[in-house]
Amino acid sequence: MPALIPHSRPTLSEADLQAVAAVIRSGQLAQGQRVQEFEEQFATFLGRKGAVATNSGTAALHLALLALEIGAGDAVVCPSYVCMAVLQAIRYVGAVPVLVDIDPHTFNLCPRSVGAALTAKTKAIVVPHLFGLPADLDELAVFGLPLIEDCAQTFGGQYRHRKVGSVGTVAIFSFYATKLLCTGEGGMVVADAPEILARLRDLRDYDERSDDRLRFNYKLTDMQAALGLSQLARLPAFLQRRREIAARYCLAFSGLPVQLPHPPEDREHLYYRFVITVSPHLDSLQDFASRQAISCRRPIFRPLHRYLDQPGFPATEAVWSQALSIPLYPSLTEEEVERIISCLQQWTA
Ligand SMILES: *Cc1c(COP(=O)(O)O)cnc(C)c1O
Repeated sequence: MPALIPHSRPTLSEADLQAVAAVIRSGQLAQGQRVQEFEEQFATFLGRKGAVATNSGTAALHLALLALEIGAGDAVVCPSYVCMAVLQAIRYVGAVPVLVDIDPHTFNLCPRSVGAALTAKTKAIVVPHLFGLPADLDELAVFGLPLIEDCAQTFGGQYRHRKVGSVGTVAIFSFYATKLLCTGEGGMVVADAPEILARLRDLRDYDERSDDRLRFNYKLTDMQAALGLSQLARLPAFLQRRREIAARYCLAFSGLPVQLPHPPEDREHLYYRFVITVSPHLDSLQDFASRQAISCRRPIFRPLHRYLDQPGFPATEAVWSQALSIPLYPSLTEEEVERIISCLQQWTA
């Protein structure tokens, strides 16, 4: 049996190790100079006024909602086809999550469904850019509500000549171990409005304040920020490698009875996930790959409307039952890429 190809894996280097080791040697481990540098480089990279580092993407979402002064009784729109972190963050602030269906071709929020779900109580729209593909930001901006871009899976790409994460009132990021850029756990919120940035900074840390308002300990450490800085420098190379592998897959799989990603022309796909649509034998392909020590996964564990026992969501249901994520990350070796290609070709042969 060949060695297992995991579904995802971080891409780490000797330079990453050195960067973290230097922080440990310095004895300054908690939030300090490295976090500030990471925030500055991040904001500059996206062309935003400021960035506030957090200890997870979920914490970033939580702070983003609070900074927009969203609370009990407010409604927040998000897709059903997204990870649980989004639902949890909306619940943290006591708001009501309003789930909507996706566009079955992009797997992102369907603007028409969003329009139908808006009420006087709606205070914001969480817009995940899923699997590396930017969502329809312009079509969602027409509703005039604050957009919270969830860039946890899409960071460094372009949508109609603007950077993903530069459009929404706020944008959040995750640096979980297997995201596009990793710090183990970690996150970031970016914004332009000075009052939003001030609230984000205020809420992240509880210490040495003149009042006792509710605040959190959501700080990133300098050890993590050093890793983040080291990874940020290599992000263009990471994305290049992802594009190369995706191009190989697209070519190799083009004759197979599976549907491949087909991004709209006005945006870049970063291939955080390489998601194919397989019908009706998704489980059999997953098992076949597993027997060859290749781990393929449903890219979303379970749609949120199922947790909430809500009927409907036909596009989400259809996509969930057919979408399978094939391993694609910069640390895949050539041999591993060949094995994955050959596995899919054998399955469909
Ligand atoms: C990973 C992820 C999050 C949560 O980030 P954590 O760092 O794991 O808390 C939120 N939204 C999306 C779309 C994600 O992929």
